[in-house]
Amino acid sequence: MATNSKHPETLVLHAGYRSDPTTTAVAVPIYQTTSFQFRDTQHAANLFGLAELGNIYTRIMNPTNDVLEQRIAALEGGVAALSLGSGQAASLFAVQNICHAGDNFVASTDLYGGTWNLFANTMKSMGIECRFVDPADPENFRRATDAKTRCYYAETLPNPKLTVFPIGEVARIGRELGVPLIMDNTAAPILCRPLDHGAAIVMHSTTKYIGGHGTSIGGIIVDGGNFDWEKHADRFPMLNTPDPSYHGAVWTQAVKPMGPVAYIIKARVTLLRDVGAPMSPFNAFMFIQGLETLPLRMRVHCENAAAVAKHLSGHAKIAKVIHPTVMTGEAKKRAETYLSRGMGALLGFELKGGADAGRKFIDSLKMFYHVANIGDARSLAIHPASTTHSQLSAEEQAKTGVTPGYVRLSIGLEHIDDILADLDQALAAA
Ligand code: PLP
Repeated sequence: MATNSKHPETLVLHAGYRSDPTTTAVAVPIYQTTSFQFRDTQHAANLFGLAELGNIYTRIMNPTNDVLEQRIAALEGGVAALSLGSGQAASLFAVQNICHAGDNFVASTDLYGGTWNLFANTMKSMGIECRFVDPADPENFRRATDAKTRCYYAETLPNPKLTVFPIGEVARIGRELGVPLIMDNTAAPILCRPLDHGAAIVMHSTTKYIGGHGTSIGGIIVDGGNFDWEKHADRFPMLNTPDPSYHGAVWTQAVKPMGPVAYIIKARVTLLRDVGAPMSPFNAFMFIQGLETLPLRMRVHCENAAAVAKHLSGHAKIAKVIHPTVMTGEAKKRAETYLSRGMGALLGFELKGGADAGRKFIDSLKMFYHVANIGDARSLAIHPASTTHSQLSAEEQAKTGVTPGYVRLSIGLEHIDDILADLDQALAAA
């Protein structure tokens, strides 16, 4: 069935799978196997030589993961995807696939702390330089670009500031200069399709909304198939010159018959082969279950969060509510441009009482969970100044948008009356 033109609600149920070819099972089976029997030596040689695509070993691909990959690729409007063991692995692979030691890439300063650490420290130790720029002015990306710049990287809806990234503006600059934009769309699946706005690659931590139930860690990279790696051959030697790790394959040529998938095939058959970090088939199955209700859940997540933002605005103990529905000016414009199907369910607020009030608020919550996570069906809360951001100086905290009284909420799917009641009683104690 040609499913790519269908609506998200349909794609999450049908893209990439009809029924199991051997048993006709309708639910996607968990292929919990390490390896796959070759038909004969020619079949094995074809698979290893990429003359034929197929299953060899679950570190590199697996039929359960394949359905998840096809489904998320369809949902994001891309051509193919690669599932990985975590969102962190997906962020690393997305960049490392085209960045060699001595190269650089430009990233937004508004990033998840784990991604920041990966880019600023671990990748630096690999000889890859990340140049962080303020996304308030998209031209900052152009200014930081030179001949060794291999990609741009940003989050659609970065917390804690929750100011939507100027996807189209930065993608346009990148396309002028031959630099692809990689978007972390973890906080806005369904709500935004970065590829429609010119991004070349999308990644998700599937751990969050896609899983949706707080059970499994995973990540995925989607190749938009919309970036001309050959046209910018000088910028992408890793895709346009012989790869010694794969008997001299030139990726843009070697996989041409399969479509515009050079980037994602290379990530699978070199990085995933060498580094590991596959998603387990069981977790792929869990994410397939999550995906089936993702459009429904995102709708309720967003409705609940918008109601919380409205309820908290003007509260006597709150200095400021941070959610796209209550933003003004440029931030409002960006949210309206890029979050076409809902304004997201992450929400922050600043307590007038500072750090003490923040702690008291969290300790008084009865229904919200106090966890370092987002995107669960349950409502979650955290006080970043005393937890996730406690290693940063007050000045560094302020730069990331965290003030002493800042509280971050991930609004869940409980009844809105119960969500508001828990917030109200905790605010009364703060
Ligand atoms: N990207 C974003 C926006 C995140 O919030 C997270 C985790 O919190 C990650 C990436 C990393 O994902 P994972 O925890 O699955 O490795």
